[in-house]
Amino acid sequence: MSDIEQITVSMNGFEVNSYIIHAPEGDVIVDAGAEPEKILSRVHQPVAAILITHGHGDHVGALEEVRRETGAPVYMHPLDAENVGVRDYEPLEDGEDLLIAGETLKVLHTPGHSPGSVTFVAGKDQIAGDLVLPGSVGRTDIAGASWEEIEVSLRKVMPLWKEDTRLFVGHGPVLSASEEVKTNPYLPPGIT
Ligand SMILES: [Zn+2]
Ligand SMILES: [Zn+2]
Repeated sequence: MSDIEQITVSMNGFEVNSYIIHAPEGDVIVDAGAEPEKILSRVHQPVAAILITHGHGDHVGALEEVRRETGAPVYMHPLDAENVGVRDYEPLEDGEDLLIAGETLKVLHTPGHSPGSVTFVAGKDQIAGDLVLPGSVGRTDIAGASWEEIEVSLRKVMPLWKEDTRLFVGHGPVLSASEEVKTNPYLPPGIT
């Protein structure tokens, strides 16, 4: 599995993560919330794609600048793309295998925090956006969000978690899935 680099950027003092998957045949950027020049400074191969976990402003605020600089295609779930008015994108589908830059990523539609939230499964690791957060889960008290849906989505991703699965999440450090299972009170019990 390719190396996944975390880049924490600041949106007016509010921290949000981007990731770069350093794949065999190119780099893949995941989310672009702010500070596009900081994200682009970590790129060291041609950018094969820009993947978006969900359409909230803290994850797409710098998307158009990053797209302009790289010329890379944008992949996003249509429900969030339509909501936030992102145009010219490749629509992500639940269950599809994305083959990009010599890496395979499985796409899981994991709504709840937003209607078009997705999780990218990279081997045993997952890039989860705001589905899971340190000791918590994504907010469900905002427009388009639903606690019932996020619980269904958690029940979809958690059976794939292994002892050493890492969760690359939208805010905060890279998480150990097994630590979250032990300590995160918002995760449904008895799944992993
Ligand atoms: Zn969000
Ligand atoms: Zn967020």
